[in-house]
Amino acid sequence: MPDLAGNPGGISQCCYQHALTEGAVFCGECGKPLLRCMAHTECGGLVGDDGRCSVCVRPQLFLDKDAATDVKAGGVLVLPLVFYNASGVARPLFITDVWIREGERPRRKIELPWKRLDAGGSNRLNVQTGALERQGRYGIEVTFAAATNYFMREERFAFTSSLGLEVEQGGSLVINQTINTAGVGTGADTIYAPIRLETVGDQVRKAQAGGKAAELALQRADNFEASNGVRGYADGPLKGVVIDRSARIVWKGFGDNAPNAGPIATQDSILALGRGKAVAEGGDNHVQLLVTDTGGAVDEQVSQAISRRHMELFIQSGRLCARVTGSAGVLVGDHRHGVDDALAVINHGDVIRILPKYPEALGLQVRMRAAHGHVDEITITRVPVIPEGSKS
Ligand SMILES: [Zn+2]
Ligand SMILES: [Zn+2]
Repeated sequence: MPDLAGNPGGISQCCYQHALTEGAVFCGECGKPLLRCMAHTECGGLVGDDGRCSVCVRPQLFLDKDAATDVKAGGVLVLPLVFYNASGVARPLFITDVWIREGERPRRKIELPWKRLDAGGSNRLNVQTGALERQGRYGIEVTFAAATNYFMREERFAFTSSLGLEVEQGGSLVINQTINTAGVGTGADTIYAPIRLETVGDQVRKAQAGGKAAELALQRADNFEASNGVRGYADGPLKGVVIDRSARIVWKGFGDNAPNAGPIATQDSILALGRGKAVAEGGDNHVQLLVTDTGGAVDEQVSQAISRRHMELFIQSGRLCARVTGSAGVLVGDHRHGVDDALAVINHGDVIRILPKYPEALGLQVRMRAAHGHVDEITITRVPVIPEGSKS
């Protein structure tokens, strides 16, 4: 059974060990980049290729023990679903949306009377099906979006579980689970695993699964995430495209002070930019931002308008986001973002102008390379460009 608590994204134990060393960017043993969870200081977790920290985000879905085991002719069925948060680090999970799809009918949203799931806690949701015929097979897909928060940040994911309902002659019901044995992918064999809910006589309509709820296999719904805006870009040139956490950031136009290219591997998975010195020079910033004149010399006066830590860049739910920390704000397109504003989502082709008052003084042009629905490289070019061989 696919297990979300397993080893997502192929993260090895060695990487968890090496990630504890502050400043470590790559695992000293296997050489993989260390992609820390946004809550790494609390959970010690890393995110896999799928962007999920398996320490923080571990939803489980159950069919409750009182599930019906028969269907009256033309009747509807109520599926008692139980959502459980198996996070080992006391991180709440927020179930933001639940969708049901029956057979080929369009997916419909279910109204949720609750949202928050504390770690170790569960909430129940009764989902009513459409009218079922006396006999036949019905596929039911339960999909839900779950969010995890850490301070001002949020990651969202979607998971899905497939059930097969079989109404036998006489109206008794067999619920099968549809599991792709090879996990998410094409060409996988599908097996049907009956959920042990036994019919007890004609009168009793309750399941007797040893008095226990049956756990349903969950799979990551990555295609659904991209096409429904759960992750990635919901509009613009990258509509339906998701930025991988492992995407390389390439810096251009910084002359000889260009930061190293690579995925965001800092302790808090944030890149800080501002007037303060870069880490390599003993400062706190990943990239130092200074305004230069046409000759390449630093314009001290205009540069003073840039805050020491002016802006933070990070990848959140498959999008490049900027949080403004500098009092002067930044311009993205025509829109000014200040410290009190929501995150700015940065798109392919955007130019982040560091000082709205002097838009031409310093900008960061962002270009993304996408293939098969995923961005694997982001190029950030300083404009105006500082030629190689000159120091900024
Ligand atoms: Zn490793
Ligand atoms: Zn985590």
